[in-house]
Order: sequence, then C-alpha cells, then structure tokens
Amino acid sequence: MLGVVGHPISHSLSPRMHNAAFAQDGTRPAGADYVYVAMDVRPDRLPAAVRGLAALGFVGFNVTMPHKEAILPLMDELDTPARLAGAVNTVVAEEGKLRGLNTDGSGFVEACEEAGVSLAGRRVLILGAGGAAAAIAVAALGAGAPRLCIANRTAGRAEALRAKLSEGMLEAEVLTCPLDKAGETAAEAEIIINATYLGMKKEDPLPLPIETLAGEKVVCDAVYLTGGETALIRYAKEAGARTVSGERMLLYQGVQAQRVWTGREPNIEAMSDALA
Ligand code: NAP
Repeated sequence: MLGVVGHPISHSLSPRMHNAAFAQDGTRPAGADYVYVAMDVRPDRLPAAVRGLAALGFVGFNVTMPHKEAILPLMDELDTPARLAGAVNTVVAEEGKLRGLNTDGSGFVEACEEAGVSLAGRRVLILGAGGAAAAIAVAALGAGAPRLCIANRTAGRAEALRAKLSEGMLEAEVLTCPLDKAGETAAEAEIIINATYLGMKKEDPLPLPIETLAGEKVVCDAVYLTGGETALIRYAKEAGARTVSGERMLLYQGVQAQRVWTGREPNIEAMSDALA
C-alpha cells in the first residue's frame, strides 16, 4: 500500500499516475503488487494518520499541501534535501522507522535533464521561498548552479531560506530580492523557475514581466494545471524560451518516489500518459 496525504486531496493526480505504472507491470513476483490511494487528512489529525499508516504496513506515502513542513517532526530520519529544504514530500517506512525524503527538487532536475537542460554553471532565479522553492534551490545548487537568486513577496522568508542554504552549501553564491524587482534579476538569469502560487488561478498575473522571458532562457514552472499549460509556460514559449512544465516536475518527483518504494525502475511512459 502506498498513497498521498493532503488536505484537500481530491484534485491530486498522483493516484492516477502511480497506479497507471503498477497496472502496466505485468506478471509480478508475489508480494510486489502495489496500490496507491489518496487520503484526505486534516492538519490536526496528521500525527494520528502517520502513526496509522505505519501501523497498517504502508510501504510509504507522499505528502502534499498543507503537510509538507508539519510532518518533519514526525519522521525518524530525514534525507539531506528534506532537512535543508525543511519539507518532506515522500516517506519511506522501513523496519518500523519513517524516513522523510524530498524528491520535488531532484524531480525538477530530472525534468530539466529530460528537456536537455543542465543546471551546472548556470545562473538561476527562483521565484518563491516556500517548500517547493526550497527543494528546487537545494537541488539546483546540488546540480552545480554557482549563483542563485531567491525572489519572494515576503522578504523575511527569502532571507531565511538564503541563510539556511548558505549554511549547507557554502561554495555557491545565494542572493535574495523582492518579487516585484525580480524582472531586473531575470535579465541576467539563465534559468528562471516559478515556485509561487501565481498561475494556479486563471486570473493570476504573471510572476514576472513578459519581456523578461525572451531570449536564450529556460523558463520552468512548478505550478501545473489539469488540462492545459500555465500562462507562464505559454508566454515563455511564445517568447522563444525553452520550457520545463510543472507537470514534468510532478512526473519525475513521482518517478523518484516510486524508485525508492519499489526498488525498481517505474514505467515512466505509463505515468506520463496518465497525466496527459
Ligand atoms: P508554499 O510553501 O505555501 O509557498 C508558497 C509560495 O508562493 C511562497 O513563496 C509565497 O510567498 C508565494 N505566493 C503565494 N501567493 C502569492 C501571491 N499572490 N503573489 C506572490 N507570491 C505568492 O507552497 P509550495 O509547496 O512551495 O508550492 C508552491 C507551488 O508549487 C504550488 O503551486 C504547488 O502546487 C507547486 N508545486 C508543484 C510541484 C510539482 O511537482 N510540480 C511540487 C511542489 C509544489 P510568501 O512567502 O510571500 O507568502
């Protein structure tokens, strides 16, 4: 048994994505048959739900909004990306212990690789300073980005993330700027990633002025919409930028979680088709 805890959760694409891979697995050895379910868990019930999942023998589970940070103290162990990002999106239950991982950032890097984009040596601008931004920042620095700017609406949150990253990754240069000044930083950035909520609603403004998307840039959006591209990805494509969508990031964070849970290479094509 596998699953995802969140609140609300009915919109989650993860059950469809993971079960599509399991359905294509064909003849499985006994004991290697998986099912993935969505579980709506209210914030006040998170500790009881986590204890329950462990007691029921879940192999692991994903964690989504609003629990990614609240679940940290409930873990027996954390991997380095989860600790540095201060957010867990994947839990593995092993020998009575719960291990918290973060595959959002590494999933983002794998989505970039799929698009032929390397972060090594590239100047990166991240919009946002929440859980997704932190995970992406950790992974981008880990993948060799030498210079990273965090632009956030709330300055204190960007500064707190910068301080945490600087402790763990001293060799990279990490800067901050206000979100409404990010257009200036975007001019010199080679890879721009939106990890704010902007774009989740049709009426949202773009997180950056449209003219900053042009040229030899890679524009990535952590936000994904069911049944269509975000405005940021659409405008970036029109402006001639290369793009990496939130849907590909969602796919690869799931691929990486499935690798850890099952110990085998997932059927990525089936997972990708399930998101289409
Ligand atoms: P979070 O921890 O709550 O952080 C939200 C971020 O968005 C903060 O930086 C916040 O700024 C900013 N923000 C919210 N409303 C804004 C507004 N109106 N204007 C400007 N900035 C605003 O959330 P998260 O977990 O990082 O998620 C962020 C986005 O990434 C969500 O859309 C989520 O679905 C997506 N995501 C996608 C994947 C994937 O696999 N594709 C994985 C994880 C997350 P303040 O600090 O100023 O509030």
